Amino acid sequence: MSTAYVYDRLYLAHDQPQHPENSRRLQQTMQHLREAGVLPRLKPLRARDASLNEVALVHQPTYIERLQNLAEGGGGWLDGDTYVSTHSFAAALRAAGGMLQAVEATLGEDVENAFALVRPPGHHALADRGMGFCLFNNAAIAARVALRHHHLDRVLIVDFDLHHGNATQDAFFDDPRVLYFSTHQYPYYPGSGHWQETGRGAGLGYTVNVPLPAGVGDVGYQRVFDSILVPVARRFRPEIILVSAGYDAHWSDPLGMMLLSVSGYFALVRTLVSLAGELCSGHLVLTLEGGYSLEALPLCIGATFSALLGDAHAHDPLGPAPQDEGSVNAIIERVKGVHKLGEWESGADR
Ligand SMILES: [Zn+2]
Repeated sequence: MSTAYVYDRLYLAHDQPQHPENSRRLQQTMQHLREAGVLPRLKPLRARDASLNEVALVHQPTYIERLQNLAEGGGGWLDGDTYVSTHSFAAALRAAGGMLQAVEATLGEDVENAFALVRPPGHHALADRGMGFCLFNNAAIAARVALRHHHLDRVLIVDFDLHHGNATQDAFFDDPRVLYFSTHQYPYYPGSGHWQETGRGAGLGYTVNVPLPAGVGDVGYQRVFDSILVPVARRFRPEIILVSAGYDAHWSDPLGMMLLSVSGYFALVRTLVSLAGELCSGHLVLTLEGGYSLEALPLCIGATFSALLGDAHAHDPLGPAPQDEGSVNAIIERVKGVHKLGEWESGADR
């Protein structure tokens, strides 16, 4: 069994050099993975383009058409944050397709887990409009394709990006087949993700939001994963775990005020690897979302691959956050209450 990755040069063609979400993020990541000797340990997967039908499992045809016209007409802006350049439509189709390729490989014989190193990111892209640097919702499209074409019944999406994945929550808010779990700085962009947002109708209880105050770091995030995510995942019994992997919660990130370290991210991904091994034959597929420190992002992604490969340690030259972290006790109690997570099931083995 191996760990795979997806990368394609087209992901660099969606670009705006002055914007925090620019092509250097992936260029420097690939350079680091090469120099640190990570790439030879991974199985490369060839990205394909998502079909329009696959994208339309999440996005409205009028939005897809509008995005294509905007890109092919030379580009522009979807909102004050979200640019479209000439090759953005093509890049977005291949980003969604790259994630699909990673899912398909993982559900096959010889790949255990995979990381789609794609751009543009996805978790803010709503059915009818892109926003927050995101054009197509790569994780949501992958979940819908997994349900529709791979006949899965239960998909867990874990979103550890700094920001709440409003659009992923929106796509599955009333759908009990997809459990959306998110940790995020709160209140913060995009404004959603209150702990009382727990789903609707048949989907009630299948959205688990853990809004965190600024200043939570390695200890707090790990406690949230151990005491909320682990019991929630065991109760849900996913057949695959998809991850919106954002690294903007690193302490040095210019957009966030959270205090995760590279080692902290490594530990969170190890928890996901262990959960996937316990619950779903190791089927774990990550897709890149945010992360805007050009120094921390490559190291965090390198540490993520170390965890996926089963290494005991990760390389963390940046070290821990320079300040003390805040407490998560209050929010953990609130989320455990609203989702009926008793002490007895919250990781009795810890
Ligand atoms: Zn983010």
